[in-house]
Amino acid sequence: MTSAATTSPLDVLHDVFGYEEFRGTQAAVVDQVVGGGDAVVLMPTGGGKSLCYQIPSLVRAGTGIVISPLIALMADQVAALDNLGVRAAYLNSSLDFEEAQNVENALLAGELDLLYLAPERLVLPRTMQLLERAQVALFAIDEAHCVSQWGHDFRSDYLGLGVLAERFPTVPRIALTATATPATHAELTERLHLENAEHFVASFDRPNITYRIEPKASARSQLMSFISTEHPGDSGIVYCLSRRGVDQLAEALAARGVTALPYHAGLPSEVRAENQARFLREDGIVMVATIAFGMGIDKPDVRFVAHLDLPRSVEGYYQETGRAGRDGLPADAWMVYGLGDVVSQRRLIESGEGDLAFRRRAMSHLDSMLALCETVDCRRVQLLRYFDEESEPCGNCDTCITPPVTWDATVAVQKLLSAVIRLDRERGQRFGSGQVIDVLRGNDNERSRSADHASLSVWGVGSDLSEAEWKTVIRQVLARGLLESHGDYGVLVVGEEAGPVLRGETEISLRVDPKRTGSKKTGAKRRGGSEVALDPAEASLFEALRAWRGEQAKEQGVPAYVVFPDATLYGIVEAKPSTIDELGQISGVGLKKLDRYGPAVLEVIGAEAG
Ligand code: ADP
Ligand code: ZN
Repeated sequence: MTSAATTSPLDVLHDVFGYEEFRGTQAAVVDQVVGGGDAVVLMPTGGGKSLCYQIPSLVRAGTGIVISPLIALMADQVAALDNLGVRAAYLNSSLDFEEAQNVENALLAGELDLLYLAPERLVLPRTMQLLERAQVALFAIDEAHCVSQWGHDFRSDYLGLGVLAERFPTVPRIALTATATPATHAELTERLHLENAEHFVASFDRPNITYRIEPKASARSQLMSFISTEHPGDSGIVYCLSRRGVDQLAEALAARGVTALPYHAGLPSEVRAENQARFLREDGIVMVATIAFGMGIDKPDVRFVAHLDLPRSVEGYYQETGRAGRDGLPADAWMVYGLGDVVSQRRLIESGEGDLAFRRRAMSHLDSMLALCETVDCRRVQLLRYFDEESEPCGNCDTCITPPVTWDATVAVQKLLSAVIRLDRERGQRFGSGQVIDVLRGNDNERSRSADHASLSVWGVGSDLSEAEWKTVIRQVLARGLLESHGDYGVLVVGEEAGPVLRGETEISLRVDPKRTGSKKTGAKRRGGSEVALDPAEASLFEALRAWRGEQAKEQGVPAYVVFPDATLYGIVEAKPSTIDELGQISGVGLKKLDRYGPAVLEVIGAEAG
């Protein structure tokens, strides 16, 4: 891109990126920054944040400086730009002295369109001096929520970025994040001194993601059947809370023929880097991970994100599930959760670090997450409302597809609360859910006999419900705060809200857990994202293109999507171009890629047709 300074944003979009038009707020953001103004951009994962600073960097004179905490991903980001014919480089601790020197010289010589930097590097006096000698087109602060001290990803190095306003008062700054809570928004604006910025808040809806939350029975086999029936051979991420859980699950999946790799902070850094690289480069890998994995992973074709443990907050859940389907094609956010999750999460918070205010906050995050799990309304409506966005029932989540059946559980809940109270008063002791269920059902077992539970007035009053049904009731009642669980054993205590229920002043309606079935997809109406249904000839062409892409990527040592993302391969399959010109019309095929890959792609198409 040597003469980029004279081209318009739309020309760059067409020629370099091969895209037809800007999406959503992209055009407005690009205008603002090209014109020299500051911008705060809140856009969901997959919304297209990168173009918001890449295009202004190409249009404005000088080099766009991109600040990102994701050192491990910089090489791939630069490779992707290189594939588009954009002159990009990065400076971080992985470069030796001479390599860094070369990059600095290229910057000073005006030979770079984009330069990626880690925040800790940027704030070094040496780097500041370097940038003052260069022509800087703009500063893009990616993952800008990292400056928020109360957020879920705080990085102390981000606090230093406030100085940019003072040191470079005439250079436009654009802060971008996929974290949308009003609190984070306000905090990052203040800390980065973006008082004069224009704010662009996109809709946070991810219409191509289907949200599903199912009751946990046997998490591992539920996951196995989810993968084998709905996502065989797909790339996906499975989140677990503990490192041990990750290791065991990755092994179990591998033993059953799924290409699964573990990722958590306890693994040696080489293993982590290697597993991440394989996940990015190879097709069809399932990453089993703690939340340490994923920020900034811009792999576009992750087809599912599964949660085997309850996330700590709705914010975290949305970030993690957002890593699915960045390419806009259909993807699943699937989770199983049960009574045990509620008890163990509360225990973690109670026994965790932090002062009372901190723990209160954690509890309220957990309560919002539980409310999402137990809702009988559209999951998406509730998710978006959490981010202050009102919407209509989506038709593409489990509660929309199969509306939950509810039942009047007032009497059952009264029995449950009374049992907990009786046990406390008459035995002078508190018990966990197992013993409470024993009492309700009148289970004559050793545990009950040794405690002489049969003499209680509430003994057996709940024999009309099964063990599993009581667990469901307790889970939902805990989620509503009518009961609380405490301590290592998760002993049950009546919550503050319970009074009106016990006095018969409020009715309680609970959801019936759906019976487990294999695929829930039948009849699902999908919005957004095209339904990818290929006939056999098309499927075979798709596979041939995928194989060709795999070889290309391997040769260059880059992730497959850097060559072409799936969405572009589908576009090629659909259009079956027979000339270079026709191929150039397809979304995602810019001039450089047309030049570089065009003949080979036409050859693959020709071979399949012939
Ligand atoms: P984010 O950083 O917001 O998560 P990306 O910038 O990685 O999202 O973009 C997500 C995907 O959408 C990428 O594959 C990108 O190339 C594609 N994309 C972005 N903008 C457009 C557009 N205007 N037209 C078509 N595809 C786009
Ligand atoms: Zn819905």
